[in-house]
Amino acid sequence: MNATETAAAIETNCVIVGAGPVGMFAVFELGLLDIKAHVIDILDRPGGQCAELYPEKPIYDIPGFPVVSGQGLVDNLMKQIEPFGPTFHVSEMVTEFEAIGTAEKPMFRLTTDAGQVFQAPVVIIAAGGGSFQPKKPPVDGVEAYEGKSVFYAVRNRESFRDKNVLIVGGGDSALDWTLNLHPIAKRITLLHRRDDFRAAPHSVNAMRELVAAGKMDLKIGQMQSLVGAEGELSSVSIKTSGGVEEVATERMLPFFGLTMKLGPLANWGLNLHENLIPVDTEKFETSIPGVFAIGDINTYPGKLKLILSGFHEGALAAQKAHRYVYPDKRLLFQYTTSSTNLQRKLGVA
Ligand SMILES: Cc1cc2nc3c(=O)[nH]c(=O)nc-3n(C[C@H](O)[C@H](O)[C@H](O)COP(=O)(O)OP(=O)(O)OC[C@H]3O[C@@H](n4cnc5c(N)ncnc54)[C@H](O)[C@@H]3O)c2cc1C
Repeated sequence: MNATETAAAIETNCVIVGAGPVGMFAVFELGLLDIKAHVIDILDRPGGQCAELYPEKPIYDIPGFPVVSGQGLVDNLMKQIEPFGPTFHVSEMVTEFEAIGTAEKPMFRLTTDAGQVFQAPVVIIAAGGGSFQPKKPPVDGVEAYEGKSVFYAVRNRESFRDKNVLIVGGGDSALDWTLNLHPIAKRITLLHRRDDFRAAPHSVNAMRELVAAGKMDLKIGQMQSLVGAEGELSSVSIKTSGGVEEVATERMLPFFGLTMKLGPLANWGLNLHENLIPVDTEKFETSIPGVFAIGDINTYPGKLKLILSGFHEGALAAQKAHRYVYPDKRLLFQYTTSSTNLQRKLGVA
């Protein structure tokens, strides 16, 4: 479908904007309350930052998982929400938002850049940092190598095995991947413009120990040019205080940070504070009744941008959402351990 065609509107109980971990888990909390959801994401698969930025990195602060990788968490969330049969609409950006109901009886119409229209009494915005894009390194011709030799995230750790890898940057991503890829790469070179790192001190210390043991190289300087053909890098020329040198490079990981753009959300008539959506902490509702904001996109006193905070926010938002979807039904608090009703919904009773 091209952007000018408009499909028949999909009518559902709730539209979730953003299929990051928080949007995904909201499907579960809504599902327990019989609220059906459609989930839309610009990326080509669910998982948000976990799948896009750090699929193979370990996360240690998800309750009940001593350690789980970014992709592992996403895979488990997919399994957990399976009983509720959510429909994912990937590679689509929600561009338009229109309130067509009233404060007492909300109804919203959302349209994606693929022309798909959704209509629902509840909208949950779980858009993280909005549409995020990696900042590109300031070196000519880098585009020709992107996706083949130059990557802004590690999707497949194995593709770095036995390669000369140049990692550029001084933050957590640069240092974490230096340590993570070091055991499998042929040789790692870390390039940073100054000998001072923003990354966690224990990572910086571990990196310095590897350098001192001659197991990897650290260069302080700037990239000058890329050498290679047909998307395959062979070396990168680097300017350091000692002059210009060529560093053999088959894979390059530039970590220059991300640009987070709020995107179309900015024009939806929501109150915003520094590109975040203020919410109350009782139900995580925005300035528009029926529209909730959970996860990294929201702000409130004491907010922590952690996955576990977003899970909690989704659970409370679902309680209030129930009132909009089923205004005449009373909501009973139940445990999944002991409620046969909930277990039936989960397909286990
Ligand atoms: C390197 C790194 C390590 C981290 N480690 C941890 C950790 O150890 N523990 C922890 O708790 N947190 C960690 N975090 C933070 C954690 O990843 C975020 O808190 C979490 O991803 C937020 O989830 P979310 O669902 O709110 O947003 P996101 O994961 O950002 O997902 C939002 C989704 O919304 C989509 N979207 C935005 N706008 C639109 C639109 N208009 N239409 C359609 N789709 C849209 C985006 O494409 C994106 O997929 C880490 C983050 C990074 C970058």
